[in-house]
Amino acid sequence: MNDLRISFEFFPPKTEEGREKLYKTREELQAFSPAFFSVTYGAGGTTRDTTANIVCNLRRDGVSIAPHLSFGGDNEETVLGLLKRYKESGVDRIVALRGDMPSGMGSVAQLVYANELVAFIRRHTGDHFHLEVAAYPEIHPEAESYDADLRFLKGKFEAGANSALTQYFYNPDAYFYFLDQCEKAGIDAPIYPGIMPITNFANLARFSRNCGAEIPRWLKYRMESYRDPEDVKKLGQEIVTDLCETLLEGGAPGLHFYTMNQVAPSADILRALNFAESAD
Ligand code: FAD
Repeated sequence: MNDLRISFEFFPPKTEEGREKLYKTREELQAFSPAFFSVTYGAGGTTRDTTANIVCNLRRDGVSIAPHLSFGGDNEETVLGLLKRYKESGVDRIVALRGDMPSGMGSVAQLVYANELVAFIRRHTGDHFHLEVAAYPEIHPEAESYDADLRFLKGKFEAGANSALTQYFYNPDAYFYFLDQCEKAGIDAPIYPGIMPITNFANLARFSRNCGAEIPRWLKYRMESYRDPEDVKKLGQEIVTDLCETLLEGGAPGLHFYTMNQVAPSADILRALNFAESAD
């Protein structure tokens, strides 16, 4: 199992207490020898400093860490400043995104597409960074069409991206079909499935409506029939472990976990999948 690439995604906490908890979470998840951790970025600059500070602090401790980055409303100088800081800190991977503007900031600036950001990073930093981009097996909610979304994904690789992390999904066929379509479109870079453990179903359902991730009808009904949060977590773990098993058996090159800054939901799934843990 452990030749498969594992990665864990965090969001930047707003409080000192949250940051301390995040550093502890990172230490515990290190046992699974992930290829990297990543830290999300609030487009519009809402987390510019917190994301960069967490990333650089972890890097100083020798952690393999990738900041998410997007232009949001920022100018080239600001993005170049971040790239310089990351490069000088020894960061060698970036998750390059268009991002979404926080509500209320929508008209402040034109969003820069991810392929343009990838080209910008390559233009200014050459091959220094391994660039991850986002991919959507169930198609991005604003996409003009399936084919257009695929074409734009290809554009991100043509601009210099190395691999992709997907939006989460619960229907493995959507991922396998997507991989087939990518191959037909001439995309040969690895596409790592994004895994969202299920801990709080009401929150997940709300979030999924906005990001275009489909909750299958059977999953919704099954989850809604449980009242005890512990039962929801247990069932969620079983369902997502099965999903991961199917993905890996079908040839997924690894797994990218949306951890929500928690250890147990991702760690329990990896243990159920028999991923080895190191002692340190
Ligand atoms: P793009 O690839 O630029 O695509 C955006 C839309 O425009 C798509 O509909 C696409 O079909 C279309 N499109 C793409 N290129 C072009 C073009 N050149 N011309 C015309 N149309 C085009 N959001 C955050 O705010 N912060 C994060 O840290 C964050 N992390 C994420 C991590 C992962 C793994 C994933 C899957 C998503 C993440 N998101 C994050 C959400 C993401 O920012 C949103 O889904 C956003 O709406 C699209 O970003 P993108 O990089 O996929 O955009």
